[in-house]
Amino acid sequence: MASITLKNIVKKYDDGFPAVNDVSIDVEDGEFIILVGPSGCGKSTLLRMVVGLEDITSGELQINGKRVNELAPRDRNLAMVFQNYALYPHLTVFENIAFPLRLNKAKLSEEEINRLVTDAAKRLELTDHLDRKPGNLSGGQRQRVAMGRAIVRQADAFLFDEPLSNLDAKLRGQMRSEISQMQRRLGITSMYVTHDQTEAMTLGDRVAVLKKGVLQQIASPRELYEQP
Ligand code: ADP
Ligand code: ADP
Repeated sequence: MASITLKNIVKKYDDGFPAVNDVSIDVEDGEFIILVGPSGCGKSTLLRMVVGLEDITSGELQINGKRVNELAPRDRNLAMVFQNYALYPHLTVFENIAFPLRLNKAKLSEEEINRLVTDAAKRLELTDHLDRKPGNLSGGQRQRVAMGRAIVRQADAFLFDEPLSNLDAKLRGQMRSEISQMQRRLGITSMYVTHDQTEAMTLGDRVAVLKKGVLQQIASPRELYEQP
């Protein structure tokens, strides 16, 4: 579990135009923050800086009150869930979930890996699918495998980049409620990019609105969407 603090975060790409411009957000421990805004407003850039895939031009990023600007992604202990899930097609569900554990420097025993994967699979209702390959799974099941991989790492926080945007409406609704339940059960700190107002309403403790890299507003979904 973690708090994430962004202080005056700026990102300039090579063209010098600030893709993210002086953004400050305090994500509290266990809080679910939604990022919304038109295409190109800097949502993905912001997430990628938090997870460490992109350098921060200026400003300070803290996790649990500690500056992490210079830390490599693996040392930040955050889990990113992409819209394409980034699963390994040739590996079983079990091995996909176990993958980050096998990379772990701590050298876990097979027994320990087995216990962690089985436990995550149970929570995500994937127990019956552990021997299957991603190609044989539905979009929703694949999504859950991607989350299993994040859970099993015991990440401090989840970062979601439009995780449901490739799903059809029915599955999207189903996954939305799964994420919502998981969030309630696990209370994991999350930053979640979406275009979908229903997702923002259902999942968000607060919604941050970005426009041209600038934070316009941050408020509860109720304040944001039900204002007169
Ligand atoms: P969003 O996720 O809200 O669609 P992005 O963070 O992807 O927005 O993009 C924000 C701005 O930064 C856009 O103007 C985009 O063109 C620019 N941008 C994103 N990635 C790069 C990159 N790798 N190099 C240069 N400019 C980029
Ligand atoms: P959009 O902001 O329009 O949703 P994409 O999600 O396609 O754009 O990609 C935005 C950027 O995120 C890409 O330039 C790429 O560098 C990065 N990205 C996307 N997926 C991954 C991934 N699996 N691993 C690392 N970087 C990724």
